[in-house]
Amino acid sequence: MRGVEVIEQHAASVINPVSGMPFAWSINPYRGCYHQCRFCYARRTHAFLEADGVTQWGSKIYVKINAAAVVRAELARKRSIDHVAVGTATDPYQPIEGTYRITRGILEALRDHHVRAGIITRSPLVVRDIDILQQLARIAGLTVSVSIATMDAALAREIEPTVAPPAQRIRTVRMLAEAGLTVHVALAPILPQITDAPEQIDAVVRAARDAGATRIWHDALNLHDVTRDAFFAYLRERRPELIAGYARLYKGTYAPRAVARTLDARVAAAQAAHPSRALPRIHAAPITQLSLLAASP
Ligand code: SF4
Repeated sequence: MRGVEVIEQHAASVINPVSGMPFAWSINPYRGCYHQCRFCYARRTHAFLEADGVTQWGSKIYVKINAAAVVRAELARKRSIDHVAVGTATDPYQPIEGTYRITRGILEALRDHHVRAGIITRSPLVVRDIDILQQLARIAGLTVSVSIATMDAALAREIEPTVAPPAQRIRTVRMLAEAGLTVHVALAPILPQITDAPEQIDAVVRAARDAGATRIWHDALNLHDVTRDAFFAYLRERRPELIAGYARLYKGTYAPRAVARTLDARVAAAQAAHPSRALPRIHAAPITQLSLLAASP
C-alpha cells in the first residue's frame, strides 16, 4: 500500500445507531478505503475528519485499533443490540485488514455476545475468517454480502481501481456458500449508461447465482456532495462524453424514479432467468439451544 498514510486512533465508541435501514446498528473498523471506488458513497465521512474525500479517500486511512475491545464493552453495556451491519462506510476487508485484523476481532466479539451480523465487502480477504463466520452463523446468524458492480474486468478496474477482479469475487462467493454461509451479492451501485445494460446485469446475476448467492440486491448510483465531486472527476478523466447526460440525470442525489424502475425490472428479469442453487446452509441455533450451550461447562 505505497503512498498510504495510516493513522491509528483509539475510538471512544464503535457501534453506531442507524435509522431507516434493515439494521439498527453499524460498525466500521476503518475510515477511508484503499479500494478507492469512483462511486463510493462513503467518501463524505472523510470530511467529518477534515480530510479530503475526493483525493485522500484511499490514501489516508484511519484505523480504530481498539475497536474489538470497545465493541465488547459496548455490547456488555447495551444488551438490546442484537443485529449489527459491519462495513457500511468502509470495506472491513480492505488490504490493511490483512495486517491489523480489526474486523476479525470485532466478529469474535459479536460471536461471544450472540449478536447477529451482516457483513458487506468487495474483498476476497473475507474467506480468511470463514472459521469465525461459521461460528457466528451458528450462534447468532450471519449474512455476507459481496459487492460486484460488473463482470467486465477492464470496466471494474476503471471504476473500482484496487478491488480484486470480478471473477475472483465470484470465487469468494462460491467459497463462502460452500462453507455453508448465507451469501448475497450486492449488484451495486448500478451506473446508468456504464453498467446498466440488460446483458451486463444478467452477467452478474448469472455468475452470482451459479456461485451460490441466495439473494441479489441492487441500488442505482447515488451522488451526494463529495461522491458527486469524485464521480464527475472520473467522468472528466475517463468518460467525458457522459458528463452532459449525467448532469441531466442527476440534478440531485438520486437518479429519477423512471431510471430506478427500469433497473428494478432488469434485475428482476435476470433473477427470474437464473434461480439460486440449493446449497446446505448453517442456521442459527434456536434461543433455547443457546441457553443450554451457555449452561454447559
Ligand atoms: S470498497 Fe466500498 S467503502 Fe471501499 S471505496 Fe469501494 S465502495 Fe467505498
